[in-house]
Amino acid sequence: MRRASRLLPRGERPEALSVFGESVVERMLSLGERQRLFVGLLGRLIEYTYKQPGWEFSLAEGYIGDSINKPGEDTPHKRHGAHFNRLGIDLNLFIYGKLVSDGAALEWLELGVFWEELHPLCFWGGRLDNVDSNHFSLRYRGVA
Ligand SMILES: [Zn+2]
Repeated sequence: MRRASRLLPRGERPEALSVFGESVVERMLSLGERQRLFVGLLGRLIEYTYKQPGWEFSLAEGYIGDSINKPGEDTPHKRHGAHFNRLGIDLNLFIYGKLVSDGAALEWLELGVFWEELHPLCFWGGRLDNVDSNHFSLRYRGVA
């Protein structure tokens, strides 16, 4: 299957092509297609990060739908949100072994912009009012 973004001239943003308020890309991709796209894009984010001198990730919460109903398991993540749909992950950024815990750090902005430019469905948590810079996800039915 060819993705819509490949059919458009360079620089054209597919979300600009809107049908009844939904972008063409949002209408075209099923949940399963998004889940598989997400992992591929995540690989590119990880590859980009490890090319920066001293930058590394560790994994935080990814898919959490299997554990939410177990005793003792709770989560701040929204039910039916990206983490439940296998479309979101939280990553911890380390630079030369030191955790970058400040969500306003420029390194997070660099990663967020890189993520957003990978695909029109990419969403970075640094855009939220309640900044969540280590959250990377794909949009699905208005949820990111
Ligand atoms: Zn998250």
